Amino acid sequence: MKINLLSADVYNKIAAGEVVDRPYSVVKELVENAIDAGATQITVEIEKGGKKRIRVTDNGGGIARDDLPLAYSAHATSKLKTASDLFAIHTLGFRGEALASVAAVSRMEIVSRTEGADAFSLACEGGALGEVLPAAGAQGTVVTVDDLFYNVPARLKFLKSDTQEEADIGGVMARFLLARPEISFTYLADGKVKYRSFGDGLAAAVVAVYGANTLENCLEIRAEKHGIKLYGFLGNRNFYKANRTYQSLFVNGRSVVNQTVGAAVTNAYASYLMKRQYPFYVLFLDVPPEVVDVNVHPNKADVRFADNQIIYGCVYSVVSAVLDGNSKALEYLVQVPKTEPAPQKEVAAPAPVWNAPNVSAPQADVEAPPAPQMTYAEAKKELAFDISIPKGSEPRFLEQERAVMEVRAPAKAQPETDAFEENKKFLLAQDAARIRQPRMETDALVYKGELFCTYLIYQSGDCAYIVDQHAAHERILFDKLKEKWETRSVVSQPMLVPFIYNGNAQEFAFLERNFPVLREIGFDIEAFGDTSVRVSAVPSELMEIDLVGFFGDVLSSMESLRAIKLSDILKDKLATAACKAAVKGGELLTEQEVRMLIERMNGDLAMKCPHGRPAVVTLKKTEVEKLFKRIV
Ligand code: ADP
Ligand code: MG
Repeated sequence: MKINLLSADVYNKIAAGEVVDRPYSVVKELVENAIDAGATQITVEIEKGGKKRIRVTDNGGGIARDDLPLAYSAHATSKLKTASDLFAIHTLGFRGEALASVAAVSRMEIVSRTEGADAFSLACEGGALGEVLPAAGAQGTVVTVDDLFYNVPARLKFLKSDTQEEADIGGVMARFLLARPEISFTYLADGKVKYRSFGDGLAAAVVAVYGANTLENCLEIRAEKHGIKLYGFLGNRNFYKANRTYQSLFVNGRSVVNQTVGAAVTNAYASYLMKRQYPFYVLFLDVPPEVVDVNVHPNKADVRFADNQIIYGCVYSVVSAVLDGNSKALEYLVQVPKTEPAPQKEVAAPAPVWNAPNVSAPQADVEAPPAPQMTYAEAKKELAFDISIPKGSEPRFLEQERAVMEVRAPAKAQPETDAFEENKKFLLAQDAARIRQPRMETDALVYKGELFCTYLIYQSGDCAYIVDQHAAHERILFDKLKEKWETRSVVSQPMLVPFIYNGNAQEFAFLERNFPVLREIGFDIEAFGDTSVRVSAVPSELMEIDLVGFFGDVLSSMESLRAIKLSDILKDKLATAACKAAVKGGELLTEQEVRMLIERMNGDLAMKCPHGRPAVVTLKKTEVEKLFKRIV
C-alpha cells in the first residue's frame, strides 16, 4: 500500500472538524482570539444562527501586515514559541489552528490594524488565500466568517436550525460576558442586541445576562482554602431553575463543565431543593496551574484536577456553609456590590448590603441617604443595632423579617477592598450566639390553631404563617443530626449481629480509604478478610438503617464519582432518618408540642424541609381580602 501525504487542503478540512463543528465553536475561537489580543471592547454579530455570517470586531493589538498570511496558516501562533512555554500558558488559544481550520471551511476575511500602522485586509476562500490589500479600519481586528461549511456538505447537513444554533451561540456569549466582566461585550443576532455589558464588574455582568432580579436572589461569595480561590454568585435557597443551563463554572478563567465541582454544588443544595430544581450559580475557581490540566481537548470544555477530593471538599464546604447559614458563612459572604443602571436598560440597583445567611438581598431602601464611605467599625455598629429588634414594634419588624442582619454599607468609590478579609475580621469580632439571632421572635407569633391535624396557623400583624408540622420538624431534626455529625458528638449503637459486606477489590479500597470518615460519624467498621468489611456499630440516629441498601448507595456513588466525600452521601441518609423520626402530618399535637416546635424553629420563616419543600407558607391579610373580593 502506498502512503500518501495529505495535502494541506484535506488536512485542514479534517482538522477543522475537530476545532469547529458548529457556529458557536467559531464564535468561541474568534472571541478568544480577541481576548488574547488584549481587546477591551468586543462586538459579535451573527446572521441566521451564524450559518450565514459571524463577525467579531475587537479593539485589541491587531495583526501586522506581514503576519496576516501567517494568521491563516496551521500551527502558526504568536502565543507560544517553545515547548517550555506550554507550562505557563496565559492565553486562551495556543495551538494556532483555529483560524486555519475555519478558513478552510468558509469564506473568511480579516481586516486588521496595529498601532501606528495602516489597516490591511486578507481574504481566504475555502482555504485559498487572497492578497493582502490596503483597507480602512480602526485599531484592532475584524474577522468575518461567511457561509460556514459551504464546501463541506456533510457537515452542513448536521447543523441544527437557525434558532438552535443561535441559542447555542447565546450560551457561549453569556459565558464570555460572565468570564470577562472587565471587557465590554456587545452581541447582536440578526441585527438585534441580545447582550450588552460595559466592562464594569461581575455583578453588572450577571445583570446583563440574567437581569437584575437574579442578582437580588443571589449571595455573593469569596473564599480561599488550601490555595484554592472560590468566588462568584450563588442563588439563595429559594431560587432555583428548571435545568442546568443556569450554572456557569470558570476554572482559571475558562468556562468549563466539571463533574466534581458540579456534584459538590448540587450536593450542597440537596437539602434545600426538590428533584428537578436546579441551583443557579456563576462560580469562579482559581487553582494553582500545576494542579489542573486544561488541555484535555480543544473543544471539550472540561478540566482535570490532580486531586478531585480537595476540590470537592473545598467547594462543598463553602457552598453548604453559606446555604446552611452556619457561623462560617459570614466568612465567605461578600457585600453585594452596587450595579450601576445600564444605559438603555432599566436596571433596579439593589442596595449594597451585607448578606446575612439565609437572607436574600432586599430591595434598595429609598430612604437610605447616600452615606459617605463607612468605616469598618461603623458598619459593625450599624449591624449591632439592626439585629437587636426593639420589642413591640411589629410593623417595622415585619418588613424586616427577612433582613434582620442587614447592614447598609455605601457603594465604594474605590475598587473593592478585600471584603473577604473584612468579613473574616467581622466574624471573629462577633460571637456565634449573636450571629444566630432569630429572624422572627417567636413571641411575636400568636398561635391560632391547626388545620387538618397537619398545619399550624400563626399570626403576626398583617400576616398569617402556616407551618407544615412534619416538614418543619423534619428540618429541625435534620439540622440537629447534622450538627452532631459535624461536631463529632455522635453516639454509636452496637449491633447484636455484626454486618459483613463482601465487596470487590475496588469497593474495598474505596471503603477502606473512608474508614476514618465512617468512624467519625459513628460507624464501627473494620477490614474483614481481603475484600470484606465488618460493621459492628452504627450511629444511634441510624439504628434502623438498611445496611445492604446503604452500602449499595454509597458504592454506586463511588462508581459515578470516584472522589466524592462519603460524608456528603451520608447527608441523604440523615434526611431519611430525620423523616422517620419527625411528627407526621395528620397527627394532632399537644399544646406543648406546638409551642416547642415553633420555639425550635427559631423564627426561621424561610425554612424548608430537607427535601426542599417549604415548611412555612406566608399568607398576607391582603391576599385573604382578595380571596373574598374585598379588594381587587
Ligand atoms: P491561536 O489563537 O491558537 O494562536 P489562531 O488560529 O486562533 O491560533 O490564531 C492564529 C494567530 O493569529 C494568533 O496567534 C494571533 O497572533 C493572530 N490573531 C488571530 N486573531 C487575532 C485578533 N483578533 N487580534 C490579533 N491577533 C489575532
Ligand atoms: Mg485562537
